[in-house]
Amino acid sequence: MSAQTQINVVLDKFYYPFLQAFPTLKDLAQAPLEQVLILWKGLGYYARAKNLHKAAQICMAQHGGYLPRSYQALLALPGIGAYSAGAILCFGFKEAVGVVDANVSRVLLRLFGMDISSKTLKTDLQNQANAFVNVANPFDHNQALIDLGALICTPKNPQCHLCPLRFACQGQNDTERFSLLKKTPSIALTQHYGVCVDQGGLYLSLPQKGLYAGLYQFPLLKEQELVSLPFIGTIKHSYTKYRLQIKLYQANLHDLVPTNLKKMPLSQLDQIPTSSMTAKIWHLCQKRRILS
Ligand code: SF4
Repeated sequence: MSAQTQINVVLDKFYYPFLQAFPTLKDLAQAPLEQVLILWKGLGYYARAKNLHKAAQICMAQHGGYLPRSYQALLALPGIGAYSAGAILCFGFKEAVGVVDANVSRVLLRLFGMDISSKTLKTDLQNQANAFVNVANPFDHNQALIDLGALICTPKNPQCHLCPLRFACQGQNDTERFSLLKKTPSIALTQHYGVCVDQGGLYLSLPQKGLYAGLYQFPLLKEQELVSLPFIGTIKHSYTKYRLQIKLYQANLHDLVPTNLKKMPLSQLDQIPTSSMTAKIWHLCQKRRILS
C-alpha cells in the first residue's frame, strides 16, 4: 500500500478499512475483485491489489488458508518477490532471513565492497544478507539495516561519520562506486482522452486485460492527432516508465475508441473501481464543471 503513498496517509485512510473489510485471508479470497479494487482506490499500483486477491485465493486452495512459511512457496505466490518473501518470513514469522530492499542493497554493496557488475547480483545480495543476518534477532537486525539505508547510508552524501558499521565498511571512501543502477529514463507520451456525458451518464471504458484491467478509465479518442474537439485541459501522470501528458476534450460517443464502453450514472462514480489517473481526470472535470 505504501509503494507510492505516504505511510501516514496509508494508515489514515486505507490500511484499517482494508483490514476491517477483509480480516482474514478467507474474507479476501471470497470477496469480488471489484470490492478489493474499490478499497484500493487512490493507492495506485492496482496490480498489487489484484495479486493480493489472487494470492489469498491460492493460500485458501493450496495452503490451508495460511501464508506458507517457506521462501520458495512464498515466491510462487503472485505479487511476492524476494523482498516481500524475506519480509514476511522475518517480520511475520521471525525467521533468520535477510530482507533486501533497495536501501539494504546499497548498504550491503558498500559495507562488503560487493561487485556491482556481477551478473548474479540479486542472488549475491540475498546470499550476503542471509549470511549477515543476526540469527538471535533477525527482526531488529533487518529493521535496523532498512533504517540505516534510508536515513544514513543514503544514495548521495551518506553520513558515514554517524554510521555504526563504519569500522568495517569497505566502501565508505568510494560510496558512488557502489551505488545501484541508474534509473532507466522515462518515456514521455501525449495521449488524447474524451469526456462524453449523456443524460446523466458518463462513458467509461473497462479494460479486460493489461495494467488497468478491471478499473474504469476515461476512453481514448479515436483521433490522436490535431484534435478539434472542445479542449478541457491537461493533466500529468506517471506510471511504470511512462510520463504521460493527458489532454482532455469534450467528446461525443462516436469520437471514443469503442473498447468495452460502459455508461455509468454520474451519481455512482465514487462507487466503482478506478485508477489514480481516472481520479485526476475526474477532479479536473469537476473543477471545470464538466461533470456537474
Ligand atoms: S560507513 Fe558509510 S558507506 Fe559504509 S555503510 Fe555506513 S553510511 Fe554506508
